Amino acid sequence: MKKRDFLKILFKFVAFFGLEKSFAFSNFEKVFKQDDDWKRILTPEQFQILRREGTEKPFSSPLNNEFRRGNYCCVACNAKLFHSSMKYDSGTGWPSFFDCYKGSIITKVDYKLLYPRTEYSCIVCGGHHGHVFNDGPKPTFKRYCNNGIVLKFMPLN
Ligand SMILES: [Zn+2]
Repeated sequence: MKKRDFLKILFKFVAFFGLEKSFAFSNFEKVFKQDDDWKRILTPEQFQILRREGTEKPFSSPLNNEFRRGNYCCVACNAKLFHSSMKYDSGTGWPSFFDCYKGSIITKVDYKLLYPRTEYSCIVCGGHHGHVFNDGPKPTFKRYCNNGIVLKFMPLN
């Protein structure tokens, strides 16, 4: 193998694992609290969404108009769920993302409406955040439709 090829492979290896590290949720402790404890740290609206799978009114979140660079974190536990580069305007009235930080959420199918939907929750605290649909833009074609009131925007310089 030529030295240059070897270096190329090495760089790819480092880039891959460097990226993986920044995106993976490998070292975290799950947060478990009783409802009464959650009620002490969440607003009633946040509690209704995170712990009772509620939905905020469309076009109600100021985060629809947030375009700065930064991270969108779970308001209950501060876990990083989305980066601003993953956000797009879906026109639905809820903050929308075509991707999420790898390993930051868990999904399950719910049947609250007539058709099955994929609900997702924060991996750390288990709080409900929204639903993911298959009508998003490239490259993932996913639309993570998130309740803005349960996200905390942390701007980056
Ligand atoms: Zn959380």
